[in-house]
Formats: sequence, C-alpha cells, structure tokens
Amino acid sequence: MSKHRNLLVYVLTTALAMQLACGGGGLPSLRGGGGNGEGTTTTGGARPAPHFKPGFNIFSPEQDIQMGRQSAQQIAQQVPLLQDEQIVNYVRGLGNKLADKAPGFDFTYQFNVIATKDINAFALPGGYIFVNAGAIAAAKNEGELAGVIAHEITHVALRHGTNQASKAYIAQKGLGIIEAITGGRETDLGQAVGAIGGLGANALFLKFGRTAEQQADLEGARILAAAGYDPRDMANFFKTLEQQGGGQRVPEFLSDHPDPGNRIAAINEALPGLGASRNPVRDSEQFKQVRARLTGGGTGRALTSSDKPARTGPRDPNDIESSARPAPPIAEVRQYQSRDGSFAFEFPANWDGLVADETNMIFAPKGAYGEYQQSLMVTHGIFIGAVAPGGNDLAAATEAFVRQQLESNPDFRVARRPAAINFNGQQGYVTIVAGPSPVTGAVEIDAIYTTATADGRLFYLIAMAPEDEYPAYQPSFERIINSIRLAR
Ligand SMILES: [Zn+2]
Repeated sequence: MSKHRNLLVYVLTTALAMQLACGGGGLPSLRGGGGNGEGTTTTGGARPAPHFKPGFNIFSPEQDIQMGRQSAQQIAQQVPLLQDEQIVNYVRGLGNKLADKAPGFDFTYQFNVIATKDINAFALPGGYIFVNAGAIAAAKNEGELAGVIAHEITHVALRHGTNQASKAYIAQKGLGIIEAITGGRETDLGQAVGAIGGLGANALFLKFGRTAEQQADLEGARILAAAGYDPRDMANFFKTLEQQGGGQRVPEFLSDHPDPGNRIAAINEALPGLGASRNPVRDSEQFKQVRARLTGGGTGRALTSSDKPARTGPRDPNDIESSARPAPPIAEVRQYQSRDGSFAFEFPANWDGLVADETNMIFAPKGAYGEYQQSLMVTHGIFIGAVAPGGNDLAAATEAFVRQQLESNPDFRVARRPAAINFNGQQGYVTIVAGPSPVTGAVEIDAIYTTATADGRLFYLIAMAPEDEYPAYQPSFERIINSIRLAR
C-alpha cells in the first residue's frame, strides 16, 4: 500500500485475486443498482424502437437483466473495479446521458470502470456496461469516449448478447426445444443457461458477429447525435485505436471489424440521416480532469496492463533491479514506546522503524519499503499509529478509516468486512483489504486492526504482505499484535 493519500492507479487481474474475492466474501456489490439513483437511468416515457430489428431471441428482456446481473457479478469478482469516485461518477454521468437516448426496452443501464490499462469496454445483457480505464485514457476527447459507450449501449438495447445465447442454445438443443420454452409454460432459465453451459455465458455475451457490430456502430452513432455529440467522434476513436493497435488483444469494439476504414465510411454515410447537432459537444473540462487523473497528469501515476501480470518480486528501492524477497522476520524483537506513553509494542529486530510522527509509522524489513513513483511504498511490514477518530464509535471510526485507506489506494477492495475481535482484552475490529501491489505486481493482503485508545483516538495496525507470503508473515504480525500495550 502506498502511505498517506498518494493516489496510485495500478491494477492487474490474477487468479489469486479471484480466489481471494470468491473466498473472502464481502465484495463491494455492483454499484448503480437499487434506488440510490447513482448510476441508474430511469426514463419517463417509452423508448423509441431501435432502427434495427433485434435478432431472434428465446429470452425475455427480464431474462436479459437476470442473466446480465449474474454475469456482471461474476465479472466484478474477477476484475478490479476502479474505486475512484471522481472517475467512476463521471463515467456514470456520461453513460446515463447516452443511455437516455437508447432505443428499445427500458433497461436500467449501469456503468462501472475496470481499473486496467486495456483499451476496451463491453456490455452484458440487461444494461451492465464496463469501461476499462485504458479506454478513457486513450480517448482524445469526451466525444470519443461517448462513442465507445454508445456502441456498448447499443449491444444492450438490441439484445445482441441473448441473441447470441439463443443461437447457441438452438444449435445445441435443436429446434424442438423452442416450443418447450416458448410454448406457454414458464421458461426454465436455469435449464436454458445450463444448456448453453460449457461455452460459458460470458463468452457468448461478449463476442458478436459482424452484423451486430455494424448495428452497434450505426445505432450508437444515432445515440451520440441524439445526446448532442458528433457521431464522427466514434469513427475518430477507431482511428485512434488503429494507430495504437499493434500487438494488443483485440478489444470488444474492434472485434469482427477487420477494416476500421469501413466503419468510418459507414458512419459518414449515415451521417446526414442522424440529425446531428451543428454545434456538437466535443469535449468537457470534466473529461480532461478525469483523463489527467488516470494518465498521471504529471503526478507519477500510471496504469499497468492486466495482460502482463508478471511478478517481479519485491524490490529493494535502493536496488531496483533486484527481485530478491526481503529477509524473513527474525525471532529477536525490539520495543517501540510512543512518546506520550499511550502505547508500546514489539517488532522483529531486523525491521526498520520509519517514524515521522505517531499517527503513521512504518515498520518494515529492508527491501520492502522505499520510494516508488513518487510515493513511499511498502510491500511487507506494518503501518501503525493513533489518529483522530472519524466516527462516534469504534465501528464508525473503523469504517471511516478503512474508507480512507481505499481512497488512497483506489484499486484495493474490501475482501472481508470489519469483524469484531478481542484486541488484547478490549473491543476491536479486523478488516481485510486486498489489491495489486504496484511494486511487486502481486496481490497484496492488508489486515487492518483497529481499537480505541484511552483518550478516544483510533489505534490501528495494518499488517501487509504479498498474498503468497502472508502465511509466512502471519506469526510475526500476531506477535506484534499480542505485544501491543495501550495505556488505560
Ligand atoms: Zn461491439
């Protein structure tokens, strides 16, 4: 984790992250649903019909929502969702503005940002749309980003995902089954999805044919125009991608489009009929801010690519090429006594103490801390200190503290919600957060222990180590915790 409020955007997906997410429970639910108004779109009247006839479909729009939600939840456990509110709220605002112009069934469109560098976006049935941070960073202006989102919205509106699933289902089961499904009795969704089975619903939902892609471009261009954007910005983004394209995985909105030139021509051809504004929105101050926030804007932040999860091993900041792990904690201990006498604890004698003030101290082995991209980073060790409480009771102060940590490390997420513990004889909590370490490239586990001091401050200890080394460090963390003495 980075110390203090340094914002670092760095993320990758690994099998470990998946395991952790699945085993740990307590994942942040997909935001945007429910009645909080955030990220949702509700339209007053009926939506206009799409200009393309939605393809053959054995599912109902309600089943699109049901299946899309299942897929979206699965995906949310497998990819790092960006937690940066400014960026995510911006994308939701833009997405909602465009979704208001979507034709067809009145789906509740929901937008989330995936914290990876990939230039991609995708849509699941029922309105679940994911935009990769890399697509935001690659867009030259708001219009280009709007183009990507409008394209994805169209896949939802035209129900391309369940159209694909329908075709696969029929291919597998034969036509006879259609009658069973459509012939009066309730559709057994589980059975239908199960039959699609081996292929994996997500794979089906995410790869469309050329006709579907052409429709997504043209209906998307129409949405763009209706929302006040220049449809040609969608085409411009394809050009941008062409230029950057070499060697990358083919993003969704480039799949089945061997020639971006044709897409641009098709949009230009359709242009006169789209009713585009003479003074379209091209860019916004907000977009520039969000883009700068993602691309670093001189603050040293950077995105890492999810398809290069190579572990480089913890690095000694003094020897950046070294991939040696820090020496394991030794049994011998030293003691730290706070200046005001309010707390004391023991730590492994081969760890260094970095103590500026007692609200945020670091104890870590050599090779596990150092400056990295202009932030002080720690890969193994503890943060410890006592701070003013951010709430009226320990539970509230703990929530506030954890939230603050996640704000400083936006791609970390809560892997296990605060659980009450006995903290050396008094009430305490432990919360587990996890995320990708920008230094090691591995998933890092942070256990956040909290309790109250006698004078009402929040005392915390964050124990951190890479996921694969955490078990080896656990006994040392426990020894430290058991040694903590708080003045009463
Ligand atoms: Zn597409």
